[in-house]
Amino acid sequence: MEFLKSTESQVRVYSRAFPIVFNRAKNAHLFSEDGKEYLDFLAGAGSLNYGHNNDVLKKALLEYIESDGVSQGLDLWTTAKQDFMQAYHDVILKPRGLDYKMQFTGPTGTNCVEAALKLARKVKGRDGIISFTNGFHGVSLGAVATTGNKNHRGGAGVPLSSVEFMPYCGYYGKDVDTIKMMDKLLSDNSSGTDLPAAVIVEAVQGEGGLNAASIAWLKDLEKLCHKHDILMILDDIQAGNGRSGDFFSFEAAGIVPDIVTVSKSLSGYGLPMALVLLKPELDIWNPGEHNGTFRGNNMAFITAKTAIETYWKDDIFINDVRQKGDILGKRLKAICDQYGPNQFRLKGRGMMRGIACSSGELADKITGLAFEKGLIIETAGPEDEVVKCLMPLTISEEDLNKGLDLLTECVSEVMKAELTKAS
Ligand SMILES: *Cc1c(COP(=O)(O)O)cnc(C)c1O
Repeated sequence: MEFLKSTESQVRVYSRAFPIVFNRAKNAHLFSEDGKEYLDFLAGAGSLNYGHNNDVLKKALLEYIESDGVSQGLDLWTTAKQDFMQAYHDVILKPRGLDYKMQFTGPTGTNCVEAALKLARKVKGRDGIISFTNGFHGVSLGAVATTGNKNHRGGAGVPLSSVEFMPYCGYYGKDVDTIKMMDKLLSDNSSGTDLPAAVIVEAVQGEGGLNAASIAWLKDLEKLCHKHDILMILDDIQAGNGRSGDFFSFEAAGIVPDIVTVSKSLSGYGLPMALVLLKPELDIWNPGEHNGTFRGNNMAFITAKTAIETYWKDDIFINDVRQKGDILGKRLKAICDQYGPNQFRLKGRGMMRGIACSSGELADKITGLAFEKGLIIETAGPEDEVVKCLMPLTISEEDLNKGLDLLTECVSEVMKAELTKAS
């Protein structure tokens, strides 16, 4: 561990909160080298919705490798790619009435965000983008310009331009309609707000602290975009693939974004893969204009296709996700109710929920104690004040409750110590 600490760049993050060496993982469990077992409520920051080493996906992957299937294919057509595209089209897009073309980008979330921003600018011939307070869209230069977090922005080293931030749903409290504010700014010739090419938005902000936009706000945002001829980019990288309680986080609002960015749990096996969904009329790219060597991770195509066919052909899986989301919501609400809204507030939706603590320090104490007790759970939000539950969607109800028991226990121990300190 000393070797790791002194040799790996200090840019590392997660290994600071969990400074041990892991060597095995299964569904919602992680195991460390020294033989300890942990419940995983982090799940690769939302990239393991179907759990660690999912047996169905693993089997398909092993068979593919064993048969010498193409592993890296640039953007060549392969059977694996064709099968993935067919499954995504038939099982995901078509039943939802979504008509999108698919653009494969380099295999990270930030790369598909870059592509989405470039495309929107090219289509509209404008450089401006509107992003939202507490938005997180990645850390490459184009994407980090749309990311609110000061620490991430500071790393850029160059001015981050052509992006304006507007208040997200609820930013000024529930009585201020931030879409109305935007409408006024965009309608006023003298507001100083230039017409942007696009807005980029998360329906539930992941890194920004599990802020869930209201359905009405999302609908109004779509209307606003149509009214002012602005493209709507919906970043579904974290909230997608079932996390919100629907396959896409925007489904509940009944909106159809112009561009959707997808990554994290898309491959289903933690394999890198990213995708831009774009309305067909927006597909004005020149060949190779947004390029990348690793746009054809065929092993990811295999597991992504298998995940779609295993979990999304009927409603069994998503109903189960919703049921577990309800349990999660109820149990976190019980914590909030016990201590009151000055201490804890419930955040998020679906299986993307957490509790906002009165301070980042308090949240840190809770997650620190949780780790000691065998629960891996992280914080999010502007002050890292939100304890964030992001367990695999495939977690058993028993493990879900076990993890929530541990979390509840940690909250009560930390609060007891706080109250003793205060008196
Ligand atoms: C994680 C994330 C990204 C960036 O994805 P990377 O793979 O880390 O580059 C972008 N947008 C959202 C909403 C994310 O959660």
